[in-house]
Amino acid sequence: MTQPSEKALVPFVSVDNMMRLVHHIGVERMITQIAAQIEADFKRWESFDKTPRIPAHSPHGVIELMPTSDGEAYGFKYVNGHPKNTSEGLQTVTAFGLLADVYTGYPTLLTEMTMLTALRTAATSALVGSYLAPKSSRVMAMIGNGAQSEFQCLAFKAMCGIDTVRLYDTDPAATEKCAGNLKNSGLTVVTCKTPEDAIEGAQIITTCTADKKYATILTDNMVGPGVHINAIGGDCPGKTELHRDILLRSDIFVEYPEQTRIEGEIQALVDDHPVTEMWQVMTGQAEGRRDDRQITLFDSVGFAIEDFSALRYIQSAIEGTGFFEPLDMLADPDNPRDLFGMLMRAG
Ligand code: NAD
Repeated sequence: MTQPSEKALVPFVSVDNMMRLVHHIGVERMITQIAAQIEADFKRWESFDKTPRIPAHSPHGVIELMPTSDGEAYGFKYVNGHPKNTSEGLQTVTAFGLLADVYTGYPTLLTEMTMLTALRTAATSALVGSYLAPKSSRVMAMIGNGAQSEFQCLAFKAMCGIDTVRLYDTDPAATEKCAGNLKNSGLTVVTCKTPEDAIEGAQIITTCTADKKYATILTDNMVGPGVHINAIGGDCPGKTELHRDILLRSDIFVEYPEQTRIEGEIQALVDDHPVTEMWQVMTGQAEGRRDDRQITLFDSVGFAIEDFSALRYIQSAIEGTGFFEPLDMLADPDNPRDLFGMLMRAG
């Protein structure tokens, strides 16, 4: 029987191997390293092909493809968003992703991305926070204590100097789970009964809730001057978290405006409402935080370049390790035109 040639085997990182890799590197260290890769890629923004992600909406949720390429590598992520899933014992967000070589078109990496999405989202949030949040930030309100929440808290601890998190979720069991998971993290964890209580004394407010509708997690009177809002959960048409008046008082920072105007908090504003692109802040072409009374808002929806950066990071992190399996997913006959012959010889 013809064996697949060595070059046709694609490294595959399973959920198990991803978890082993994260333990090997350390959660906070890995988030910080992914953030460095994202920052490097945002700084060469113009070298990427960019398009808003491609969604398939249904009454149950959304399934999306997120592609990009820098001309040498091509990457995409498959991701879903199903807020109703947790009530059925399933994840709201699951994902996998692929990298390919632009020259041959051959895949070079296939990996789980449910864990990796939580890590890259936290990395992006804290990276943006390191540019926009007040330098004296120590306290973060974490509203929505689901799957992403611990990753967010640890990222802001590692990269923005947060030492206290104030947790709130409409489901007290989620808050209890989050507080339990953060017990030995080095963070002071305060559980709160209302969102008003959670934002008390916080310089950073992260909203990371899941609901397939226009929700109002924060109202205007809850947001004082000088805070940084990291709004993660509003990431689909018809799915937002903030009252429109907060947007009108904030300086709004986005990943890729063409996608954020469809999916982000700024759906609530006119199409030409000014926003600043984070890559421009990172390259020094645009201003970040100007003063300590300004409200900065990161209207995060998650963009394909962040996944590309995370995929490239994993590709180099697994090199020379046992944290992957070679996957026989490409038919690669010795005579490239003899695909049929290869099939017959296998019989
Ligand atoms: P999850 O379902 O595990 O957690 C969401 C939590 O929000 C739940 O515990 C739920 O009880 C809570 N919640 C719902 N309504 C609330 C309210 N009004 N006030 C307080 N808490 C409330 O979901 P997750 O995986 O943590 O994801 C959270 C959100 O972040 C989702 O909407 C997801 O689509 C989004 N997300 C965004 C990005 C990004 O890059 N921006 C990346 C990943 C996930």
